[in-house]
Amino acid sequence: MLPWTTYEAMYDAALNRPEQFWLAAAQRVTWKQPPVAACRTRADGWHDWFPDATLNTCHNAVDRHVENGRGGQAALIWHSCATRERQVVTYRELQGRVAGFSGGLRSLGVEKGDRVLIVMPTMIETAIAMLACARIGAVHVVVFAGYAGPELARRIDDVAPKVIITASCSFQGQTAIPSAFALNEALDKATHRPQACVIVQRKAYPASLLPVRDHDFHVLEQSAPAEPVILRSEDPLYILHTSGTTGHAKGIVRDNGGHAVAIALSMDLIYGCKPGDTFFTTSDLGWVVGHSYGVYAPLIGGCTSIIVEGGASASAIHTLSHEHEVKCLFTTPTQMRLMRQESRHLSGAIVPALSRIFVAGEYADPTLLDWARAYFRKPVVNHWWQTETGWSITAHFFGLPEREPVALMNDIGRPAPGFRPAIMPSIPGEQCGEIVLSLPLPPGCLAGVWKDRAIHAPAAYLDETRRHYRTFDEGTIEANRAVHMLGRSDDVIKVAGRRISGVQIEKIIAAHPAVHACAVVAVPDELRGQRPIAYVVPDSVVECAPSSEEIVARVNEVLGRWIGLKEVRFVRHLPTTVSGKITRKRLLIS
Ligand code: AMP
Repeated sequence: MLPWTTYEAMYDAALNRPEQFWLAAAQRVTWKQPPVAACRTRADGWHDWFPDATLNTCHNAVDRHVENGRGGQAALIWHSCATRERQVVTYRELQGRVAGFSGGLRSLGVEKGDRVLIVMPTMIETAIAMLACARIGAVHVVVFAGYAGPELARRIDDVAPKVIITASCSFQGQTAIPSAFALNEALDKATHRPQACVIVQRKAYPASLLPVRDHDFHVLEQSAPAEPVILRSEDPLYILHTSGTTGHAKGIVRDNGGHAVAIALSMDLIYGCKPGDTFFTTSDLGWVVGHSYGVYAPLIGGCTSIIVEGGASASAIHTLSHEHEVKCLFTTPTQMRLMRQESRHLSGAIVPALSRIFVAGEYADPTLLDWARAYFRKPVVNHWWQTETGWSITAHFFGLPEREPVALMNDIGRPAPGFRPAIMPSIPGEQCGEIVLSLPLPPGCLAGVWKDRAIHAPAAYLDETRRHYRTFDEGTIEANRAVHMLGRSDDVIKVAGRRISGVQIEKIIAAHPAVHACAVVAVPDELRGQRPIAYVVPDSVVECAPSSEEIVARVNEVLGRWIGLKEVRFVRHLPTTVSGKITRKRLLIS
């Protein structure tokens, strides 16, 4: 039971009595050494949550539920939209498989603090690999399986993994794409050499394993089980890369203790879920929502989590929700637009157990939310997230008895506990500006940024006063604390809810010998929310001008096809400011 009846009482408790608030929230987690302090400032100026306390995240997500009598309950339900395969794994089975695979990783030399790169589509094995790393204190780095070889090589060199785990193939729609090509290309390009590769063999396209280098995932799973190791709350659980303003993907580091506490609280407070409920996230496990709400939060909360490979159709979502009595569905506006398109001729879905639907990741216009409300006949809300924060910055709080004012339901809601947003207008006195968050950020947010094989305070996210975290999102805040978002203040583009920096794409195009200059901007896309368009100035000295196909192919080769670049416009020059900076916004008007 949550101790508050109203949003204001809850938010006020976190604002004015943070130590008391977070130490109470920490009781949702099983500790080896319970915390005596909530937050401590580090020597580098950033902060640690629950310093000196010890726990194991995998134990919290798996073992303790078996110990508490949930062994027979489904922990994970997997459905592949590509192959139509389905698997149900109980908490007891999950414990056995994770413990065995942990032992297997150990036999390959993986120890506490080592990084393990997981390049996998959403599968049960992906979750097992993540949890096995957490069990032995290794740091997992999950990479979306759609990335092409060169981008993968960059991640390999960034985190220097001891082991790489991949599947023999992933799918684009119903087509099997063998993983060997991207993996081998990445290993050729990277300077770091992992000690071993682990391959999940899939029936659709089994790989030929290289002697010495490659190991079969399912054989390794049979290894002698490893027990959860005791970790400090502030030890890293995972690194997840995301695109930012610099044009380089940044490795966001998440801790163990703060993360477990924040997402355990969110299951109850935001999503209104209790142990035994079923939570369905359509996100790929390679993205932050997949990490937090496909794997960790539902499992730490003793729920059943449904995960899907590939874009789930409206009928698949409907059937899975119906069959497994889903209580909460968490999806993206893009997925919802696809559902709307697909179910145009259907009268509506009847899913009695479903209580509410959440979307996040990109702007959701009110007509879309209204369509979903009418279709499912359930509450549908949008909430605001970042990879860096790991859980929602603003939300709607279904765990509280107080009913939210109707006027708030079409927007991203009010701050979650511990988030203290403020507006930094570029013109003093303006209501609208970049949304910043006062430090310290609540638990669950980034514990640092990974660079040069170490964890650093996230200096690039701090404002001039060094007292605020910059979200790079712009908006306004109302007197009743409701936050409205207007969009990014930097060059980040959201393609089907996935984040990519325009500068990152520009760098690839600019490397073409026949390109003089280029700029990438985002335009609205009916289904995917946004898509990139490239403006290219060909080099007048080079005889052969580049073709749009060539430019699109280059971008796809480096980043993967999911980027969705289709349109290249050739121009004579790009608009610039007097100081010579490209004014991308003017391209959108022209
Ligand atoms: P990611 O790190 O991939 O989760 O992307 C985070 C970015 O997505 C944010 O900085 C926003 O620009 C955007 N975003 C996330 N949630 C929402 C939302 N509910 N409404 C509008 N934009 C959102």
